[in-house]
Amino acid sequence: MLKTHTCGELRKEHVGQTVTLAGWVNRRRDHGGLIFIDLRDRWGMTQIVADPAQSGEAHKAASEARGEYVLQVTGVVRARPEEMVNPDLGTGEIELEATVIKILNPAKTPPFYIYSDEKVEEALRMKYRYLDLRRRRMQRNLILRHQVVKYIRDFLAERGFVEIETPVLFKTTPEGARDYLVPSRVHPGKFYALPQSPQQLKQLLMVAGYERYFQIARCFRDEDQRGDRQPEFTQLDLEMSFVERADVMSLIETLMTGIVKDVSDCELLYEPFPRLTYKEAMDRFGTDRPDLRYGLELTDVSAIAAKTEFKVFTGAVEAGGAVKALVAPGCGDYSRRQAEELEVIVQEAGAKGLAWLAVNADGTARGGAARFFEGERLAELLEATGAQPGDLVLFVADEYTMVSAALDALRREFARRLELADPKKISFCWVIDFPLFFWNEEEQRWDPSHHLFTAPLPEDAHLLYTDPGAARGAQYDLVCNGYEVAGGSIRIHDRAMQERVFELIGLDMATARERFGHMLEAFEYGTPPHGGIAPGIDRIVMLLAGEPNIREVIAFPKNQQASDMMADAPSVVEPIQLEELHIRVVED
Ligand code: ASP
Repeated sequence: MLKTHTCGELRKEHVGQTVTLAGWVNRRRDHGGLIFIDLRDRWGMTQIVADPAQSGEAHKAASEARGEYVLQVTGVVRARPEEMVNPDLGTGEIELEATVIKILNPAKTPPFYIYSDEKVEEALRMKYRYLDLRRRRMQRNLILRHQVVKYIRDFLAERGFVEIETPVLFKTTPEGARDYLVPSRVHPGKFYALPQSPQQLKQLLMVAGYERYFQIARCFRDEDQRGDRQPEFTQLDLEMSFVERADVMSLIETLMTGIVKDVSDCELLYEPFPRLTYKEAMDRFGTDRPDLRYGLELTDVSAIAAKTEFKVFTGAVEAGGAVKALVAPGCGDYSRRQAEELEVIVQEAGAKGLAWLAVNADGTARGGAARFFEGERLAELLEATGAQPGDLVLFVADEYTMVSAALDALRREFARRLELADPKKISFCWVIDFPLFFWNEEEQRWDPSHHLFTAPLPEDAHLLYTDPGAARGAQYDLVCNGYEVAGGSIRIHDRAMQERVFELIGLDMATARERFGHMLEAFEYGTPPHGGIAPGIDRIVMLLAGEPNIREVIAFPKNQQASDMMADAPSVVEPIQLEELHIRVVED
């Protein structure tokens, strides 16, 4: 080794020892005689002193060194004088008096400071990702990620799980996104698909008798990069045999609780994790991934609104929709303009408009919707919503799903404005009892709400033949701080039921056999009842690290145009490569 210790390791007890460190010049201060260098590696920082009186050569090298030069320094550890002790630094009580300094590699001036956490434009960080990864924030995130994955591996191995790799070159997987395709050279005109998840393979591993499988699996989904998505991301993929949904949920709950408590410095808010039915989540929060770090629950005021003279309200209720309200505490002083600005948020979520009123100190109301709520009507409204003087009441009237989406957006916005979502707090909840299917009006068929291998709840299985829309799925989503962080289900393990689901989702048998024939066939060779789940590692680490997006916890992420800006991928390839793959590129 070119170093005897790390830059974060030396303490008072090492005083007097001769050691060798190696690392990067974090900062260098030339005091005209003495030169001080903060030498950094991933474990920390040590102050190096180059004194011309001690070693002329070491001093000369130190005077040539600049930020990010790679140095090897041999010297004697000495205690810093009392007034020079740096309590913020692990090594702050000592310094290294250099006898030999070797420049192992010089460095150009980096495009941004490595030693400070100041904000740097993301495109620049992506282009020079290897420099960005030197920064403290990124090192902290990637190390946290490693710890989370290690915790998962140890936890599952202790419980009899086997880690098994599944192929990346495979066949289309029905997770609902577009596939990434890989052309085959050997089979002209044929393509592999990169797995959107190892779903089929993990189920086949259950048929194969492994009973407890997991994998830290890379998944590929060619989706538009809106929001916080990556074309490739990592899941803890897991499957178990002879289980019911409570078994999978309780295993994951124990795992997640352990991760938060043992690996992160976040506070876990609720134990056990609250369980909400899909309907309850939608009714109370307008979403199936509610953030439970704060209240701001929605109230259905349809019955009260139906009694008003407000056409928008009565119209929505008559049409079978709903009128729901959100109370923004202490926001009663919003001006008309401010309230109108909020309308943009609900419109972006698809709703037509937003009505509002503010509750005055004397219990009366002002604002657009106030004239429809007077006297008894207002009293009823305040009672139902719990609105107090000084609060702002916001209404959306529309079809139920639209109302939900709009008020979910507004609820998140107020949490942000009122700073209700503390990033140091982690609140998990389970959402269960999803409908197994949603009706696809455009294509006049059922869409699976999870994926097409999800079984109905046992007591709802008969509905597949009579009333599919009413069947609930044996599905469970794990939600954390407003994000869906895992989805899973008990699977269908019976060929006839699987074929019925194919039929309902409009997959003709010929296509189903071509795509999933291997699964249908496998189901005929003794398939255990089984189920699983797949927590998203990127998102969980993002939440534990308190980061705003998953790019901050991925070493080499793609940007929002799905490009790697450092290596410039995707890129054009040689004509000969295309020829070998039997591919011709058509420019449009
Ligand atoms: N394959 C599913 C997904 O990627 C998870 C599962 O059902 O286990 O969302």
